[in-house]
Amino acid sequence: MGRIIAGYVRVSTLKQKNDGVSVDMQKEMIIKHALMMELVKNADEIEFFIDDGYSGKSLERPKIKELIEKIKKDEVYAVICYDLSRLSREMFDSNSLLRMFNNHGAALKCIYDQTSIKTASDRFSTNIKILNNQYERERIVERTNDGLLSIAESGRYPCGGIVSFGYFRGEDKNIYIHPTDSKIVRRMFEMAKKGYSIDDIRITVNAISNSRNIIFDNAHIRRILKNKIYTGLLHYKGKDYTDIVPRIIEDSLFDEAQRVTRRYSKTGEGYIYNQRLYCKSCGKFFINTHGTSATGQRYNYYKCPECNTIISENKLDTVFAEQEPDVSVSKMKAELVNNIDYQLKLLNMRIRRIKNKYLKAVINDEDYIELLKPINKAIDRLEDKKRGIDRVTINKQRYGDMRSCEEKYKYVRNNVDKIIIEPETKKIYKILMK
Ligand SMILES: [Zn+2]
Repeated sequence: MGRIIAGYVRVSTLKQKNDGVSVDMQKEMIIKHALMMELVKNADEIEFFIDDGYSGKSLERPKIKELIEKIKKDEVYAVICYDLSRLSREMFDSNSLLRMFNNHGAALKCIYDQTSIKTASDRFSTNIKILNNQYERERIVERTNDGLLSIAESGRYPCGGIVSFGYFRGEDKNIYIHPTDSKIVRRMFEMAKKGYSIDDIRITVNAISNSRNIIFDNAHIRRILKNKIYTGLLHYKGKDYTDIVPRIIEDSLFDEAQRVTRRYSKTGEGYIYNQRLYCKSCGKFFINTHGTSATGQRYNYYKCPECNTIISENKLDTVFAEQEPDVSVSKMKAELVNNIDYQLKLLNMRIRRIKNKYLKAVINDEDYIELLKPINKAIDRLEDKKRGIDRVTINKQRYGDMRSCEEKYKYVRNNVDKIIIEPETKKIYKILMK
């Protein structure tokens, strides 16, 4: 069997005008060229390799792979394509392809840009074309981004999908402050500023209904507290825009909340009682702090930001190990069930509120069904979890037996909810387990 005349055709996924040479048009040009150059006597002698919907950026295309295999087996006499960028838009790929063509005696004919690889000077000008193709490809990518940027420049919100909690998208596609959800956002920032823990914030905001029926978890709350969009600042593709999203939180409140929450997330790991100690008289939680002794030994302290009571970690550790309540497994399970029941109660309250709205004809049939769907799902999940608790085995380990700071930190984080400190005596008033 003689060596074949191959026609390679590619159209990209980017339906850009510059790249929009259709499959049929490319085929037609290849056929015309092959007939004119008398490479074939009729069109069906050309074997076509067509990659429809593939970018020229990589060689991860089924048909080009097939063609390469054939060339490597010396089965190809010539490859005809519309232009060099059909084969590849990457300098590196194009070069290795051309070398491979050469090594296996396959000729390359690019109709549009007259590419030839026979002589050194041919190869030089081909390389220039390859570079140009790569430049073109980068420009196409840029242009797509530019499209979104120009949306942002014109004062509209460029990101598709769901807008941040606290906002809603108006009929005109612009972003507006949601009257009630934004108050929840504000509440989160104010609580964070006052030094409330993320757990406290979570419990508080989950008791208030919101328009999206979101049940917040700690990670979501942390994300919200870190999101500069609430100060009216939209960061998009390396640029800041201040006139697209309206402000919910003033800069000073945002910064204050950052300062307080960052102190914990940054240094929390080294502190065994991070975010666990509460002042009995002020109700604030203690801030982590530390000092270094003359010998370079580090000592951790915890300080009430209100009454400035300071308690050392070492001292606390001894007392805690002695006082740690021996929570039996059945009690722990009961508490888990309690926790789930509390969440179920919140969800049922929300259902009642929605039902009331429906009965007062504030919401229509479809909205009613739609609003109830996620809540019922959440209820099912919780009921499932509740049924599973009986099968759970709880590994109990005594705090006093632990040696490393790391172990203790993990134990406290997982098992202790709050340790209430009496500021006058610096003693533990009460330990609340999770
Ligand atoms: Zn205090």
